[in-house]
Amino acid sequence: SFPDFELFKQSYNHVNSEKPAIISRGKQYQYRQLFRDILHFRNTYFNNRNLNGERVVFLCPSSYEYVIAQWSIWCSNGIAVPLCTIHPPAEIKYTINDSKASIAIVHKSFSEFFKPILASFPNLKYIEIDDFLEDPSPIIPNITFEPVNKNNGALILYTSGTTGNPKGVVITFKNLENQIGCLIKAWKWTSEDKILHTLPLHHTHGIINVLLCPLWSGATCDMLPKFNVNKVWDLWMDESNNYTLFMAVPTIYAKLIKLYKSFSPILQKKATECCKQFRLMVSGSSSLPNFLFNEWKRISGHTLLERYGMTEIGMAIGNPYNGPRIPGSVGVPFPNVQVKLVCTDTGKDVSNIPETPGEIRIKSPSVFKEYFNRKEQTFESFDEDGWFKTGDIAVITADQKYRILGRASADIIKSGGYKISALEIERELLEHPYIEDCAVVGLPDPNEWGELVGLMYVGSSELSINEIKNFLKPRLAKYKLPRVSCRVNEIPRNTLGKINKREVVRCML
Ligand code: ATP
Ligand code: MG
Repeated sequence: SFPDFELFKQSYNHVNSEKPAIISRGKQYQYRQLFRDILHFRNTYFNNRNLNGERVVFLCPSSYEYVIAQWSIWCSNGIAVPLCTIHPPAEIKYTINDSKASIAIVHKSFSEFFKPILASFPNLKYIEIDDFLEDPSPIIPNITFEPVNKNNGALILYTSGTTGNPKGVVITFKNLENQIGCLIKAWKWTSEDKILHTLPLHHTHGIINVLLCPLWSGATCDMLPKFNVNKVWDLWMDESNNYTLFMAVPTIYAKLIKLYKSFSPILQKKATECCKQFRLMVSGSSSLPNFLFNEWKRISGHTLLERYGMTEIGMAIGNPYNGPRIPGSVGVPFPNVQVKLVCTDTGKDVSNIPETPGEIRIKSPSVFKEYFNRKEQTFESFDEDGWFKTGDIAVITADQKYRILGRASADIIKSGGYKISALEIERELLEHPYIEDCAVVGLPDPNEWGELVGLMYVGSSELSINEIKNFLKPRLAKYKLPRVSCRVNEIPRNTLGKINKREVVRCML
C-alpha cells in the first residue's frame, strides 16, 4: 500500500494513460511504470520497511531516477532530502550532518564523487542506483492507499544561505498537498500539459512547480539533465515536442534572450513562431526586471506571469492567469494565502496603507512546519499571532497589488535616513544600453550616510559614476543614486540565479 497522499492518488489516476509521466535521457516513462518501479525500489532497498520519518538524502541528476528515489522515500514514510548536484563536498556534508540522515541514495554517476564523503559518515546506509530502463508495456500495479499523519515531514529543503547558514525547512505532506493543489488550480494544469524542466532539483521552484505539478495532473515532465540555453531553444523549435508551459528564473530568460539576439533573422522568426506552443510562461525566485519582461514579450509574444514564493511558504503571491500582468508587480495572494504587511520599525499593520513599506507576513496551510532541529529559529520566525515573517519588504499599491522591494537584510539600503530598495535601482539600470547585469548593495559608511548605495555591473563598456548618475537622474530620486560603482565580468549568483549580495559587498569593500 501507499500513504493516502493526494499527489500519489491524483497521479495514480493516470496509470492507464499512454502519455509519459517523465521523459528522461530521451526515454519515455509512463505512469504505470513509475508506480511499478517505486514498488520495486521500496521492496529492494527498504525491505518494505516503514521509515518513520528517517531522513534520506539523495543525489541524482535531473532524471527519472530522481523521481523514483523521491517517491520511494515518501511511500515508505521517510523524509526526502535532495542534495544539490553541483555542491562541493563540504556543503553535501553539511546537509547530511544537519539533517541527521540515516540513508543516502546516490546515482552511479556520482559514486566517485560521493565515496570520500561517505568515509565521514560510517553509519550512513549507502544505496547506489543505476539508470532505469524504459519499459514499453509495464503492467499496471495494484495499489491501495492507507491513511497517514499528513503533519509528518515529507521534505527537507535547505534555504540558499543568502542570509546565514542554510536552514533545513521541514515541509509536511499536508503542506505539499496544499502547495501543489493551489498551483494546479491557479495555472490550470491538466493532463494535456507538457513542460520542459530546466531548473535545479534541490529547491522549491524545480521540485514543486515544475516536477510535482505535472505529475499530479497526469501531464508530462521532460527533464533536461542540465540547463543549456542552446538545448532549450532547440527543443522548443523541434515541432514534435509540443510543450504547453515553461517556468524559470529571470536569469534563464536573460540567457534565452541573449542567444536569440545572436540568431540569424530566419532563425529568429522560427524561434518567435515556436513560442506559440505555450499557453503560459512563468518567472520567479527573484525579481523580474521590466527590461526582461518587455524584451521577452517582444521576442516570444508572451507576457510573463511573475510570482513570489519562498521555500518556507511555497508560492504566496502571483499575477493572474487571466487578466493583466503588470511588470514590477507580483500581483495578489494565491487562494488560501493570507498576507499582511507590518512596518518593522513601529510594528504597525500597514496592509491597508498604499505605498507604505512593510514586511510580508504569511498565514496559509502551505507554511512549513519548522526549521529542522532549530527550535529557536523556528520560534523567532513567527510573530505572536502565528504569522510567518518572510524578511521581505513590499508595498501594496492603490489597486491592491503587491510590489516587492526586496529583502530587509540585503536589498533595503539605509542611507541618510532613507530606506532604499536595491531592486528598484537595479530595474532602472538594466534599461541602460551598456549595462547587461547588475547588483545594487549598501556599503557601510558609518561616519556619514550609514550606508552608501554601491553598484556592481557587467557592461559592454566602462561607465563613470557621473554617467551612471546622469542616466538615473530623470528616473529616480537623488538620494537613490549610486555613489560608487565597479565593473566586473560576472555578478556572483547561486544555482538559481539569485545574487549573493554578501559576496558583492565583500568584493566592493
Ligand atoms: P536564505 O533563506 O538561506 O537566505 P533564500 O531566501 O534565498 O535563502 P529561497 O527560499 O529560495 O532562499 O528564496 C526565497 C526568497 O526569494 C524570497 O524571500 C524573496 O526574497 C526572493 N523572491 C522570490 N520570488 C521573488 C520575486 N518574484 N521578486 C522578488 N524576490 C523574490
Ligand atoms: Mg530565505
